[in-house]
Amino acid sequence: MTLIAILDDRVTNRNIFSRLAATLEEGAEIRAFGDPRAALENLAASDPDLVITDFKMPYMDGAEFTRRFRALPNGADVPVIVITVYEDRGFRLRALEAGATDFLQSPVDHQEFITRARNLLKLSKQQRLIKSRALSLEHELAASEQSRQALLRDSRERLAQVIDTVPAMISATDETGTYIFVNAYQANFSGVDPERCIGMDAVATFGPAYAARSRALDRLVFETGEALPAYEEEIIDRTGMPRVFLTTKSPLRDTAARVVSVLTSAIDITERKHAESRLRHIAHHDQLTRLPNRLLLQQQLQRELARNRRGGRMFALHFIDLDRFKDVNDALGHQLGDQLLHAVAGRLRHVACESDTVARLGGDEFAILQTKVREPEDAAILARQVIESLSQPFGIDGQTLTLSASVGITLYPADGGALDELLRNADLAMYRAKADGGASFRFYCADMNQNVREAIRLEADLRQAVALGHFVLHFQPQVAVETGRIVGMEALLRWQRPGVGLVKPGEFLPVAEETGLIVPINTWVLREACRQAQSWRARGLPPLRLAINLSPVQFRRQNVFDVVSETLHDTGFDANFLELELTETILMENAEASARTLRTLQALGVTFAIDDFGTGYSSLSYVKNFPVDRLKIDQSFVRNLKTDPSDTAIVRAIINLGHSLDIAVVAEGVETREQFTQLAAEGCDEVQGYLFGPPLTADDFAALIERGHTLPYLA
Ligand code: C2E
Ligand code: CA
Ligand code: CA
Repeated sequence: MTLIAILDDRVTNRNIFSRLAATLEEGAEIRAFGDPRAALENLAASDPDLVITDFKMPYMDGAEFTRRFRALPNGADVPVIVITVYEDRGFRLRALEAGATDFLQSPVDHQEFITRARNLLKLSKQQRLIKSRALSLEHELAASEQSRQALLRDSRERLAQVIDTVPAMISATDETGTYIFVNAYQANFSGVDPERCIGMDAVATFGPAYAARSRALDRLVFETGEALPAYEEEIIDRTGMPRVFLTTKSPLRDTAARVVSVLTSAIDITERKHAESRLRHIAHHDQLTRLPNRLLLQQQLQRELARNRRGGRMFALHFIDLDRFKDVNDALGHQLGDQLLHAVAGRLRHVACESDTVARLGGDEFAILQTKVREPEDAAILARQVIESLSQPFGIDGQTLTLSASVGITLYPADGGALDELLRNADLAMYRAKADGGASFRFYCADMNQNVREAIRLEADLRQAVALGHFVLHFQPQVAVETGRIVGMEALLRWQRPGVGLVKPGEFLPVAEETGLIVPINTWVLREACRQAQSWRARGLPPLRLAINLSPVQFRRQNVFDVVSETLHDTGFDANFLELELTETILMENAEASARTLRTLQALGVTFAIDDFGTGYSSLSYVKNFPVDRLKIDQSFVRNLKTDPSDTAIVRAIINLGHSLDIAVVAEGVETREQFTQLAAEGCDEVQGYLFGPPLTADDFAALIERGHTLPYLA
């Protein structure tokens, strides 16, 4: 009678699976278990035909259960189906290694359950049939009193009838390797007439390679007198197609218990092998890009390590991370983001060698295991190719997108002898490349640990600062050249870092932007600055223009219009006094969308200044296309006004350009009287710098304007 075992710790599942299993075969006995230990105990004493088990269970998981079940005397050949959730490829691989025959995906599709279970049940029954027939053949032969030849002649017909019905290749060979028996299935498979097989050797049916292997194994059986454990072999069928067989060989004895021939039976497991290799592929590959996944990369690395351990050959591990991919993904939506990753995978495969492994580690992280490395420069060449290739525009769904990537490289054996170490160090080197601005590569070096650890700590501290509100604003006056009066103030961010003190933005902005933390930070800046300015007005202080610095990251991740209008509304601050300082990057990226945002804000009364003018793209088209009210000449030009004639020329050109377009010009970083006099002579409208006042705390700034906002020394 057929026995099917179900193992699942949840009652509902157990009931459903039992009901489904009952439909597989009439009269089949279903045994359901909730506890894998109880199941093992019970099954050890019975003879199941099929086992279906859940993966996640108390006491042991499905893989461990399968391993223990396989170790039972009757557990070796019984098909075991393991039920896993889709994402658990690692689980599947473990289950496969433990001897699982097939998988079902949870939640289980009923139709699939029935189909798979039925197929495996059939396979299991075939195997069982073969075993019992082979056993009876052996008994019959052994029991007979007649000589070997006579025995074979007499019983051949009867045996052939029995054996021919078995869907497996069954044959017996004597000590010389000559067939003394071949069943119909085998004759048909090899395309030789069954009658003619007897007296032939295996060379004639399956070729010399198969024959040599089979003879060698036969000899082993003759010598030891024992059956061989089942092994897998590939045999080419009559049409030239390779098939995989599970083959066993056992001795046939005469009455004196002497081994007189070897019985070979082989069942076709090609389909099962296909299913197995498909599952193996799934477990080892990323479904989106079809690249090897982390698991396979680790195995390849392990192999490479083993290969090179003594030879000391070099290889390189490249850790590749796309710069700012999150923004692209957020802006495009996940579907296009996926397409982009797919395209990235294609390019990586293209630049890598045949012998290299290109893997996707997850998200926007990729890796290349480069094997043909003679010197570090070989790795640098590949890294450069990777960066160059990924910097070419991508055409996705009619849109043109650009990306860049950061690459960290570790070399074996210099940078680590163990797998984890190599991966970790490559990751650190990548982090370094990214921190240095991205679109570049770095070799790992030992002191990176320290730097990167600091960067990681900085990021963690910054996150905490956002949560705890460890920021303050300082305010710096902006002065009209003509009147010497303070007409505006720029809000400048400071971080009160515990144990460190007041930190300037230069030290944490890059990390804040890379991590996106700048978005909540700057939202706070906007709100706090407006709140502060509004409270000064409420105290009767003279109204001043309030300038606030925005980050390009905000334009990528935030609806800037919503944030600004909401802040104005909540704080009651007058939009006509708000100025936003933009960088050229903001205007160049996604120019149309930015222009639209700026125009809607302009309609509220908000004005715009271009910060650090002259350092960026120096493409002036945007000055015409965007509602720009002010240009801020970068302090680097102001610093050298006296000494560098070309800087004087640039400053003059900027002022003329501004005025020709009716845009006011502010000079930043004015520190000396000479600089001020020269700027005033060139017609600069406003100035800002230590000469007129450094960035001050809110209280000091309030005191300054309370004293009257004409600066004393200009008066
Ligand atoms: P920025 O917008 O060009 O700001 C002017 C910087 O020059 C400020 O540095 C200011 O303290 C400094 N400065 C002012 N007068 C002088 C001077 O006479 N001589 C010299 N050598 N320096 C002077 P700070 O405060 O360290 O800010 C640095 C940069 O950080 C700013 O450059 C701005 O790009 C950014 N930043 C500051 N606050 C924020 C913020 O709230 N959000 C964003 N996104 N960026 C900010
Ligand atoms: Ca600024
Ligand atoms: Ca500036």
